[in-house]
Amino acid sequence: MKIGTPKETFDGENRVAMTPDSALQLQKLGYDCAIETGAGAAAGFSDEAYEKAGVEIVKTAAALWKTADIIAKVRQPNETELKRLTKNKTLISFFNPAGNEKGMDLAKSKGANVIAMEMVPRISRAQKMDALSSMANIAGYRAVIEAGNNFGRFFTGQVTAAGKVPPAKVLVVGAGVAGLAAIGTSTSLGAITYAFDVRPEVAEQVESMGAEFVYLDFEEEQQDGAATGGYAAVSSPEFREAQLAKFRELAPEMDIVITTALIPNREAPKLWLEDMVKAMKPGSVIVDLAAERGGNVEGTVPDEKVVTENGVTIIGYTDFPSRMASQASSLYATNVRHMMTDLTPEKDGRINHDMEDDVIRGATVTYQGEITFPPPPPKIQ
Ligand code: NAD
Repeated sequence: MKIGTPKETFDGENRVAMTPDSALQLQKLGYDCAIETGAGAAAGFSDEAYEKAGVEIVKTAAALWKTADIIAKVRQPNETELKRLTKNKTLISFFNPAGNEKGMDLAKSKGANVIAMEMVPRISRAQKMDALSSMANIAGYRAVIEAGNNFGRFFTGQVTAAGKVPPAKVLVVGAGVAGLAAIGTSTSLGAITYAFDVRPEVAEQVESMGAEFVYLDFEEEQQDGAATGGYAAVSSPEFREAQLAKFRELAPEMDIVITTALIPNREAPKLWLEDMVKAMKPGSVIVDLAAERGGNVEGTVPDEKVVTENGVTIIGYTDFPSRMASQASSLYATNVRHMMTDLTPEKDGRINHDMEDDVIRGATVTYQGEITFPPPPPKIQ
């Protein structure tokens, strides 16, 4: 069978789902590989590099979708792309199934099998395919770099002949995958870093990275995320008030705020309100990693950088992984390659789409003319 990767069609998307390295690994599983000409260029992978790795270069997207049995791409496919699916083709991609009924219907009507990368169950065995985590890790790192790029001062404190420089103070709100990456980057650059999460079980991780966990003076315990599979639930109004009061206290002191707070299947909670933005010093920077889901910050404009009247920069970019396209493509292509390894137990270049396998079942959203989303809960933890 042949695995093909088209050039991404989403405006400004620089990533690619196959790299020369991942192609070599896919060939070891028995597959032929093809790529649309120029598909890797924006991520730093030339047609020549693919050719050297034994990948066939295909001239057009239409020809690529036609020749490939399995299509691996990054972004949710658009209608034109979905219409190119045919019976028994398999698509592996981010798909946003919960918000993409039309796409699922179209794939189903074509009889194609779709594996949605964001649906890979977050269990230990599937970590190597967890593209949500690999992309969130990049987003967290890049958020700090973008903040630094817009902050007119050092992160680390210095004593120089020209004067003493205080260290920057950074607050990371939400210590999941992206938040922890942001914390690690911030502490390694020398900033005094604080972090808050509604799940107190992350405090130890935060502290082990050299940051300070922000506790609330609150009677009730902070939420136990373990009850919701590691995800947060909506906070009680009392808890929220205590959280906002703490943020109000911290706002005038913080130079950089990075927000990453998300609750599954909901709009992002608004946590950094207008008065907190106003209380920050001129020159401070906020990066709202939740911008795509409505934002944690009042004043965030998705995909934009805005500067408030009091001189605070609010960054609402939603394309952080694409801003590090080479690294993001390598990690994503590796996630896809691991998915293919599980789909090819015999290493014979043929897909064995085992719907009894928790990980494959969990990620499959259409199969043999049926919509198979949402999946049943995984059996193995
Ligand atoms: P996410 O993107 O859904 O949320 C980001 C963070 O925001 C979470 O830590 C959440 O608790 C926090 N948050 C939500 N509401 C908040 C609020 N009001 N204030 C402050 N913070 C708030 O989560 P994620 O980063 O994708 O991962 C969440 C968990 O899943 C983590 O514990 C992570 O370790 C775990 N995980 C496990 C695996 C695995 O394979 N076992 C893989 C990936 C992630």
